[in-house]
Amino acid sequence: MLVQKFGGSSVEDAGKIRQVAEIALSHRQDGRIAIVLSAMKGITDLLLGAAREAESGKASYKDALATVEFRHRQAATELTSGPTRLALEAHLDQYLKDLRDLLHGVELVKECSKRTLDLVAGFGERLSCLLMASHLTGRGEEAHFIDASKNFILTNDNHGEAEVDFEATYAAVEARLRPLQGVMVITGFVASTPEGRPTTLGRNGSDYTASLVGAAIRAEAVEIWKDVDGVLTADPRFVKGTIVLDEISMEEAMELSYFGAKVIHPSTMMPLLERGISLRIKNTLNPAVKGTLIRQNPTPHTNDITGIASISAAALINIEGSGMIGIPGFASRVFGALARVKVNVIMISQASSEHSICIVCRETEAQTALVALRAELAIEHKQKKLKDCELLTGLEIIAVIGENMRGRPGITGRLFSSLGDAKVNVLAIAQGSSERNISFVIESKDREKALNTVHAAFIGPKAAGQGAKK
Ligand code: ADP
Ligand code: ASP
Ligand code: MG
Repeated sequence: MLVQKFGGSSVEDAGKIRQVAEIALSHRQDGRIAIVLSAMKGITDLLLGAAREAESGKASYKDALATVEFRHRQAATELTSGPTRLALEAHLDQYLKDLRDLLHGVELVKECSKRTLDLVAGFGERLSCLLMASHLTGRGEEAHFIDASKNFILTNDNHGEAEVDFEATYAAVEARLRPLQGVMVITGFVASTPEGRPTTLGRNGSDYTASLVGAAIRAEAVEIWKDVDGVLTADPRFVKGTIVLDEISMEEAMELSYFGAKVIHPSTMMPLLERGISLRIKNTLNPAVKGTLIRQNPTPHTNDITGIASISAAALINIEGSGMIGIPGFASRVFGALARVKVNVIMISQASSEHSICIVCRETEAQTALVALRAELAIEHKQKKLKDCELLTGLEIIAVIGENMRGRPGITGRLFSSLGDAKVNVLAIAQGSSERNISFVIESKDREKALNTVHAAFIGPKAAGQGAKK
């Protein structure tokens, strides 16, 4: 069986939902297919905004609710008729009442716990799947609506970005889907703890739901349908002349998404990699296009690099001084201190003189990181072995990724000389030991210039013929 996932832009209105139904029905194998849906475009943001407004006692949350209601009721009218519409409307009434009651409760107590927020955030997926399942039923197709927060995707209670219990999830998903025929319409993003408390997999988590379902049933393949022709060499919103990649490796996809390529949720690849299942990115708006195939051992391409990604709102903390030279365990103290306060270190770089270490994390975690490091290194600082930790914000991490970089000399030189020529100041550099990734930090103001400069240097007509020989 195939698992297909459709994102928010693929189900944003009745017309798109109809299109998705056609795609899913035409890909059934032995009459069966599993589809995972996101909320309609913009709905999750509206729900999260409404919860925040209700928490601060603002009645304006009702406006957001009215928009949520209007969009789904309008789509329901366009997608169904007769008894199916009546049944759908009864179901919609119930969901919308639950949502209203929930937000009214938040408004009264002026408190919205992460647990409540997960319950609220998941309504978008419940509503879009309900519309799809009803539409299919109305067309005389067998369709099953599956709420993944009902003993399906099982996680711990880290609300907002819960961690999956793979074994329990695989068993639950497999048992649930095995007896079903027709189209299984599954809510992306939402999950629950074993006790049944609702959780979510983090923003953009529906991609991950699809790969968990695919791994659980050992699907033939997983397809993620978006509003782009596949994985592009860089983010098309900022870079000119991007091209669609035919095939990339699972590791390249992981690195690209980890370093901010919004096209796939970073956790998506791991379950599939473990079970040897391939992933294809396709375009709902352009289904005839082949898309990008992500798999183990892809057909090699000739560009020196595969793609470029970037993470905004990064911060850099520089630790400098003679106090760390030749002292074993210094780095482990630094990372231990950061791990204790749960700061996620995205990138590190250490000068070979061992005179400085710099750590790059998200701006939102920078103050926590700084306080933890100052406390950990207070003695060395007092003894003047280390300078005070220096914090820089307003930065961007750019990552250049590709299997072909391995063992090819000259790439780093070309990369940084192109940036030098464009007068982009580079603050720190790191190369992953896999040689599949070179990442560097620049000021945010230089983001578009840097991305376009690197893209032009390595991909596209200008780059042709410049690559080092294999
Ligand atoms: P969905 O809602 O279907 O999950 P997203 O909006 O989350 O879709 O992700 C798709 C978007 O990711 C594209 O519209 C594109 O703007 C953006 N994007 C960023 N980097 C890339 C990339 N390297 N390749 C393709 N799309 C990218
Ligand atoms: N609807 C959720 C979000 O907007 C999950 C997803 O779209 O994948 O983050
Ligand atoms: Mg997404």
